Amino acid sequence: MLDSKASPPGPPAPDADLHPETRLVHGGILRSQYGETAEALFLTQGFVYDRAETAEARFKNEDPGYQYTRYGNPTISMFEDRLAALEGAEACRATATGMAAVHGAIVGLVKAGDHVVAPRAMFGSCRWIIEEMLPRFGVTSTLVDGTDLDQWRRAVRPQTTLFFLETPCNPTLEVIDIAGVAEIAHAAGALLVVDNVFASPLYQRPLALGADVVVYSATKHIDGQGRCMGGAILASKVLIEERIQLFLRMTGPSMSPFNAWVLLKSLELLPLRVGRQTETAGKLADAMTAIPGIQKVIYPGRADHPQAALIARQMSGPSTLIAFEVAGGKAGAFRFQNALKLIGISNNLGDAKSLITHPPTTTHSRFTPAERAALGITDGMLRLSVGLEHVDDLLADVQRAAAAL
Ligand SMILES: *Cc1c(COP(=O)(O)O)cnc(C)c1O
Repeated sequence: MLDSKASPPGPPAPDADLHPETRLVHGGILRSQYGETAEALFLTQGFVYDRAETAEARFKNEDPGYQYTRYGNPTISMFEDRLAALEGAEACRATATGMAAVHGAIVGLVKAGDHVVAPRAMFGSCRWIIEEMLPRFGVTSTLVDGTDLDQWRRAVRPQTTLFFLETPCNPTLEVIDIAGVAEIAHAAGALLVVDNVFASPLYQRPLALGADVVVYSATKHIDGQGRCMGGAILASKVLIEERIQLFLRMTGPSMSPFNAWVLLKSLELLPLRVGRQTETAGKLADAMTAIPGIQKVIYPGRADHPQAALIARQMSGPSTLIAFEVAGGKAGAFRFQNALKLIGISNNLGDAKSLITHPPTTTHSRFTPAERAALGITDGMLRLSVGLEHVDDLLADVQRAAAAL
């Protein structure tokens, strides 16, 4: 058997009572015979066996140990186990990018003839997989307004096997009721996959709310410093080992051990970084509501977010992202971006550096104006990813940009 992760005996899993900060420093450690304090980087493709019999046993899954990095690697295992410890998931598999995680989770769980339900408001590439790619393999889908539970209910067909959603969603920071959707999915005999990138594992725990699978782009808050691409799929041991692992091993979207090492160390600082970025985002969002030219501020931590009650129920913290609208439509949004001196124009997010993007002309330019309007994406909308700069410097930059409107 090639399909189960064989790893040498490591330290015991961290105590279930430990706080997230502690798990992010101690979770998943596999120490070598040298007793290193910092986690080792095993930048190797393969592993040598002491005897032919060991190789045979390892391929028969009778000997714990690694075979080939496409199947598993100690540094990648440490990243997976640490993230699983934070998420409270039984199992995790790392992937090369967030999209490899989304693709692996979806394709691992569906087959020709199946039907998928998902919201219209989704990260562009996720929507492409569901809308454009899956039909080529005989998997149909229905897209709904994710905030309307009745639409999820009405979309169910006898062939429905999978629900997929992202919340808060990109770029409007609209929130979907995970527990409500999970209940509808399970009543239909379907599984629910949640893309938890915008909330980060710190602020929302989809598995505890009833989701079956959680996916991440580790490229975003988990790296947090704009360096490595990465992704992760978290679920029960049964789902990972029986439905997803073999697909990943045989098709090869594996994470590089180097990236796993960077991301593993980044996890140690996740609460510090995201905590500070969120605090700054909250202050900035409040201050932005009073700046002339900024017409609307959408922030999950504000009482005027249209779904504040759901956010209070479902999330333990708000967001490092702010969506807002400026006067003057596209021209206004361009003037605003071009007047910024500190905040960079980039479609990425979760970085230590604050970044801004104009969704209608970048991440959502594939959609028609009518489709964008249906998603609540106006021509004057901007999405700001708040970094680690001082709040006063960011506010001055935003004020300068608003003055140029
Ligand atoms: C970035 C992102 C992805 C894709 O991740 P990559 O690492 O870029 O492949 C998927 N979903 C959401 C919500 C994202 O923000």
